Amino acid sequence: MDIEREVLEVDVLIVGAGPAGLSCAYRLKELLDKHEEKHATGDPVCSKDLSGAMIAVIEKGAHVGAHSLSGAVMDPKGIAELIPDYVEQGAPLEKKVEDDTLYILTKSGKFAVPWLPKSMHNHGFNIISLNRFTSWLGSRVEEKGVDILAGAGGAEVLYANGKTLGVRTDDKGRDKAGAPRHNFEAGTDIHAKVTVFAEGVRGSLTKAHVKKLQLDYGRNPQSYVTGVKEVWEVPEGRLSRGTVYHTLGYPLDTRTFGGGFIYTMNDNLLALGFVVGLNYRNPLTDPHNLFSKFKTHPFVKSLLDCGKMLRYGAKAIPEGGFFSMPKMYGDGFLIIGDSAGFLNSRRLKGIHLAIKSGIMAAETIYDSLVVEDFSDAKLAAFNSRFEKSWAKEELHGVRNFHQAYEDGLFSGFLHTGLQIITGGRGLKEKYEIDEDHKRMKKIGDYFGTDTVDPKRDQIKHDGALTWNKLDNVYYSGTKHEEDQPSHLVITDLNICNDRCGKEYGNPCQHFCPAHVYEMEEDEKGKRKLKLNPSNCVHCKTCDIADPYGIITWVVPEGGGGPNYSDM
Ligand code: SF4
Repeated sequence: MDIEREVLEVDVLIVGAGPAGLSCAYRLKELLDKHEEKHATGDPVCSKDLSGAMIAVIEKGAHVGAHSLSGAVMDPKGIAELIPDYVEQGAPLEKKVEDDTLYILTKSGKFAVPWLPKSMHNHGFNIISLNRFTSWLGSRVEEKGVDILAGAGGAEVLYANGKTLGVRTDDKGRDKAGAPRHNFEAGTDIHAKVTVFAEGVRGSLTKAHVKKLQLDYGRNPQSYVTGVKEVWEVPEGRLSRGTVYHTLGYPLDTRTFGGGFIYTMNDNLLALGFVVGLNYRNPLTDPHNLFSKFKTHPFVKSLLDCGKMLRYGAKAIPEGGFFSMPKMYGDGFLIIGDSAGFLNSRRLKGIHLAIKSGIMAAETIYDSLVVEDFSDAKLAAFNSRFEKSWAKEELHGVRNFHQAYEDGLFSGFLHTGLQIITGGRGLKEKYEIDEDHKRMKKIGDYFGTDTVDPKRDQIKHDGALTWNKLDNVYYSGTKHEEDQPSHLVITDLNICNDRCGKEYGNPCQHFCPAHVYEMEEDEKGKRKLKLNPSNCVHCKTCDIADPYGIITWVVPEGGGGPNYSDM
């Protein structure tokens, strides 16, 4: 069916209103405003009239911040560079970190790691709720006069003459089979001189774009962890504000990467979560179950005692680092933030780097607007800026960190020690890795038998300390229009219904933290995959961890998904 679509022409299109995209919009508008002031006074340096330059930001969440989730302890370096008076401007900050401890958990005990390199210290940094912070930053951007179109997901990248032309936003009002309903609204084609991909982790457009243009050629594949998080209200005085605990060990085995975090917030709120490397071998690995087990550890349980769980969410995190960053520029586009891998995995921090990437993108785009040149050669200035920046220095210093844990915790410690001494190098300049999902073992290979109870590691939920996935999802505020095409596109269901069950035990049931994937028996006793897309919290884990690479996460109707607060 031919659909007539509205075409919107803008100068700059930013896809995603997270810290990177918003920072780009903020700094670019600031530069354009300064340019205009000088232009009005006849300053020859600003002779070009940029008064009509239009920036548009699209965001798939129902509002800015709805899909933002992180730990988070923020290094203020990025926001201080973007908005020097961010404190006076009311940035929502929790108390600065005063107590910062890394514990190794055994099954029932714990011991504190006596020494950590300075680069891993959190003292003096602010604990934040990323979704509150993002919402605040979005308001600053809107105050500057930039339009943010919330509820508009990027459905497809548009190209013309070998260049990136912009993005088509999602159609609204299609039924499950894809046919238009009575309320059908065609997505808009937004054409831009520069399109900035700031979609966050494993952005669906960025993934397709990187693949089409082979922007990851010669790079390590991106490597991820999935984090599952809750926010609890705990009795007054349980932990002093400004406390940050990280944990290693229980309930993970020593060959699986990951650990826990516990941060105190204002109003007796406690943020806690657990991250698990998606390069795991055990096909029954279940981040939600591991998080539940983490909460049953006596130390963690004692912190939650008599408390009340308020919020739940999950998100993948790009941890591959410097060598996994794709080429971030080309004819008519830039890639920034988590989409480009701006994350320091040793510090488990990316917000400051995402902001910095947004600033560098804005400065690059401003220069391009002045000379009306949006070519690969001109936008390469983004890379030059990155090369000279503190962001590059920081990321290069930990370039081999995540890869060092490919063979488990103990060899990872050894490599990390060596890397700290050698400025990030370790045993060689570049540690190579494979795609995460390729490391998953088949049931028979991992357990030595093909008959394994898929629930063997699952704990029983009591509804007071731990919950099943479905009950947890309720606390994420997730909603989707039910009558729409599935946004989990599976290219070969026969693999799910037959081969995957035998080979891997349908790991989608385990790695998805929102009970979207369910194996059901039909009337003939044949197992079939049932999808519950409306539960999806947009964590992107399935798009990464599926061992056959047959699941593609595409954007659902804009406005659907989680509705995070305090996360
Ligand atoms: Fe995450 Fe995929 Fe499950 Fe959605 S369906 S919650 S993206 S694993």
